Amino acid sequence: MIHSLLIANRGEIARRIIRTARRMGVRTVAVYSTADAASPHVREADAAIEIGPPPARASYLSIDNILLAAQKAGVDAVHPGYGFLSENADFAEAVIAAGHIWVGPLPDAIRAMGQKDTAKRLMQAAGVPTTPGYLGEDQTEAGLARQAAAIGWPVLIKAVAGGGGKGMRRVVAQEEFNAALASAKREAAAAFGDDRVFLEKYIERPRHIEVQVFGDRQGNFVHLFERDCSIQRRYQKVIEEAPATGMDAATRRRICEAALEAARAVHYEGAGTVEFIADARQGLDADHIWFMEMNTRLQVEHPVTEAITGLDLVEWQLRVASSEPLPLRQEEIKLSGWAMEARLYAENPATGFLPSTGALRHFRMPPEVRVDAGVEEGGEVSSFYDPMIAKLVASGPTRTAAAACLADACSQVEVWPVKTNAAFLARILTDPDFVAGNIDTSFIDNRRDRLIPSAEPSEQVVEAAAGARLARGWNPQEPWRALGGFRLNAPTHLHVSLQNGERCYQVEQTSRLAASLPARDFGTAIVVFSGGNAYPFTDPTLLAEAVSTASTGRISSPMPGRIIALRVKTGDQVAKGQPLVILEAMKIEHTLQAPFPGAVTAVSTREGEQVSEGVVLVQLDRKE
Ligand code: ADP
Repeated sequence: MIHSLLIANRGEIARRIIRTARRMGVRTVAVYSTADAASPHVREADAAIEIGPPPARASYLSIDNILLAAQKAGVDAVHPGYGFLSENADFAEAVIAAGHIWVGPLPDAIRAMGQKDTAKRLMQAAGVPTTPGYLGEDQTEAGLARQAAAIGWPVLIKAVAGGGGKGMRRVVAQEEFNAALASAKREAAAAFGDDRVFLEKYIERPRHIEVQVFGDRQGNFVHLFERDCSIQRRYQKVIEEAPATGMDAATRRRICEAALEAARAVHYEGAGTVEFIADARQGLDADHIWFMEMNTRLQVEHPVTEAITGLDLVEWQLRVASSEPLPLRQEEIKLSGWAMEARLYAENPATGFLPSTGALRHFRMPPEVRVDAGVEEGGEVSSFYDPMIAKLVASGPTRTAAAACLADACSQVEVWPVKTNAAFLARILTDPDFVAGNIDTSFIDNRRDRLIPSAEPSEQVVEAAAGARLARGWNPQEPWRALGGFRLNAPTHLHVSLQNGERCYQVEQTSRLAASLPARDFGTAIVVFSGGNAYPFTDPTLLAEAVSTASTGRISSPMPGRIIALRVKTGDQVAKGQPLVILEAMKIEHTLQAPFPGAVTAVSTREGEQVSEGVVLVQLDRKE
């Protein structure tokens, strides 16, 4: 058995590998870029070695730096995780040449499957059904256009070296082909340094079905059943499940057998995934399921397979890499229950899914499900790496039970101030079509409006904020602090003002409010968590007070923050209530207004400046 293992990765997958290695008594060595020095995977490993600056190219993608670390640590083996160098045959070769064990298939198998066109040719030769199309011997515009027309529209242009949906273009008509081809080639050249493409029939409303396979050095092969990864956004998986809904035993047998053929064809060792595309208009049937590609590594979504088989796939990887035979024979591997995974991203669905980065003041995951997280409270989401911060995995006896459990878990996610897609995930999981199993890869695109959570807080959310506001004190000089003697049922006719974004909410009779939603206090903000969303509220009186105490005309910053807009300059005449400065604190905008009419006598800040609490920003001279 391997004694020590270097994990050439970061985030949740590094931590997940460490967990199994530790259980098996394998010593672990983490690597990290300087951006990750305080990351949990660094602390959790038995040892950790820095491999360079934040950009992945200079650290997690640097073969030299990682090999140096492996040498320094004197490890037996290297596990690449997924992403980064996991499917880089040169890296695998270099690891082996340096005398380490490579936890993965032989470099030749990685190479054979690395180019989508050669992989398809290989599969055709092995008798595995492949998507109809053209493999691109002729790369000229005219030649490809002719082949596309022969396949029949719509056609999908794919980069030979493709991955992550890059260099992929759907073309619905002849006249759009040349422009789409040029753009696919440009993107492929930029992403992979290889602009070759091939063509596939575009399957309408397809489902993404993949089969987990394992091979060992002794030449044994098994499959661990299928997963369905049809819920995608921009060709990226969002929700995965195992098994696939609507898969009957005969179809399952045939596609799992096809996956094993694919693995045998490249003498596969270790964990791999054979991806298929299914034309599921008439349900799943083996005559309408075709090989798409093989991923020669552990997949992000492997936990759903672990849940339905009760196996630890990383343990199997380490055993196979240690030259042990596969722990079980095919007939000993049983499928039981249903499992579903949701990928939690640090991104904002409301702004077109822009990544959201920064400090994680608050990070609470639901306790009822398996959570594989790469971050922790008090940590940070870096802009240098993939925005996936955690995976939530639920299982149950049936698909309905697993979906309900995962939906519930996603709605309990509490993250602040980084934004996440948790509410979006919960909405997918409770969508009637999803629950009924009516899914295909255009599921998200077809119901985009319904799935994007509303930014408006519900009445219940506002009430929870008001309840929290009351429970936490009244003194405007010391806002949001707990007030010892306060009793919720004492004074009646209380009035609370709360600001959320542009809107100010007035809540009366709050003494009756029972805060049923979690509301948490972050300095000057109260954040209510509901359905996976976070709704921040501030106290508008806090700002008013801060300004009015400046009766001298000194307008100071009521809290630490950043000046995002300066609305006045020295010499300006301002009316009462006119906006002077907009301050951003805790990702919320606060407008500081003129407490009285007057003239601006001094401006002592500028846009973009980070200011601390109590700093004078603008001076006004009162003029009635
Ligand atoms: P990549 O390696 O870039 O991720 P894949 O070949 O794995 O690309 O395809 C990614 C996704 O694109 C699939 O899961 C599927 O949703 C869609 N896709 C791929 N091939 C086709 C096709 N022929 N017709 C329709 N959709 C396809």
